[in-house]
Amino acid sequence: MKIAVLPGDGIGPEIVAQAVKVLNALNIDLQLQEAHIGGAGYDAEGDPLPASTLKLAQESDAVLLGAVGGWQYDTLPRDMRPERGLLRIRKELGLFANLRPALLYDELASASTLKPEVVSGLDIMIVRELTGDIYFGQPRGITTLANGEREGINTMRYTESEIRRIGRVAFDIAMKRNKKVCSVDKANVLETTELWRQVMIELSKDYPEVELSHMYVDNAAMQLVRAPKQFDVIVTGNIFGDILSDEASMLTGSIGMLPSASLDQNNKGMYEPSHGSAPDIAGKDIANPLATILSAVMMLRYTFNDEANAQRIENAVKKTLAQGYRTGDIYTDGTKKVKCSEMGDAVVAAL
Ligand code: NAD
Repeated sequence: MKIAVLPGDGIGPEIVAQAVKVLNALNIDLQLQEAHIGGAGYDAEGDPLPASTLKLAQESDAVLLGAVGGWQYDTLPRDMRPERGLLRIRKELGLFANLRPALLYDELASASTLKPEVVSGLDIMIVRELTGDIYFGQPRGITTLANGEREGINTMRYTESEIRRIGRVAFDIAMKRNKKVCSVDKANVLETTELWRQVMIELSKDYPEVELSHMYVDNAAMQLVRAPKQFDVIVTGNIFGDILSDEASMLTGSIGMLPSASLDQNNKGMYEPSHGSAPDIAGKDIANPLATILSAVMMLRYTFNDEANAQRIENAVKKTLAQGYRTGDIYTDGTKKVKCSEMGDAVVAAL
């Protein structure tokens, strides 16, 4: 199991170090190799995605990434900015399926802005298509019309095969969970998503055990805050998924708890926390490393098919929270405030 470890910028190195510590504590055969990405790539090799980093990622079974970005890079030419390194590596690796769980640990129910009874026990998986839709469709651009007025154009498009492959990811995941898929579209007004719905219905015939439902995106946005526990797996296109996954993440209260995975056709994946490089707290050893540790859990589960070790770490995280350990972002009265590295140590001890 070869893993490319890309700490990146800001809190990236601090949080990735904790996930590496936990992976090493499993005592399984893992080959971890570090490389630069983002601002760190630019500083070291003049490129936010150095060729050596891309090669390492391509040769590895999985990538574990921290985060990229920082104020000092905001004035660089667009192509040299840290975020560009991230977009490029996703594209180069063909990562079309983005998985973002929104899972609320009972101990943290009071951290959500919603009432505890609405969110406690929440466990949703959002499967978002990542390489198509209006973000990539042609034609696009800003043009000037004959009358001199400017017009902006983007194009929403999906082919049948693109819809089918993301649908398969969602149905396969549902088979390992509560066997419910809710496909989110806007089929009443957008033909692209009318096709999306048709393909999902066709695909569902291959998964007779899975209950497929459909929801318009505006209703889904409302239902996520009204009664979020009705969902198991949500599958949707790039733009709807972008918005809904951020909305769902806030149901859990802290961005420091949320992992993510982006997978290719063969379940090779890049695993990273959902948050950014948090430059405001970088270098202080106070960031929450749990989103990154839980990203390593997703790596074991989805790329390495190692459910036993995935659950070992998950249980260790739950135990650590039950013991009252909290980083600053999830701290409440009566719990024990710890540093980033101490949280990593506590998870290792719980393992
Ligand atoms: P951010 O997610 O980095 O931070 C938002 C807020 O959440 C900050 O107050 C931060 O301190 C806090 N926070 C984030 N992660 C935390 C953690 N693990 N523990 C405790 N608190 C945490 O978003 P931002 O401030 O909008 O962006 C900062 C930089 O990160 C920018 O350069 C942005 O481009 C980049 N960014 C990168 C990614 C990525 O690498 N995938 C994603 C989003 C933003």
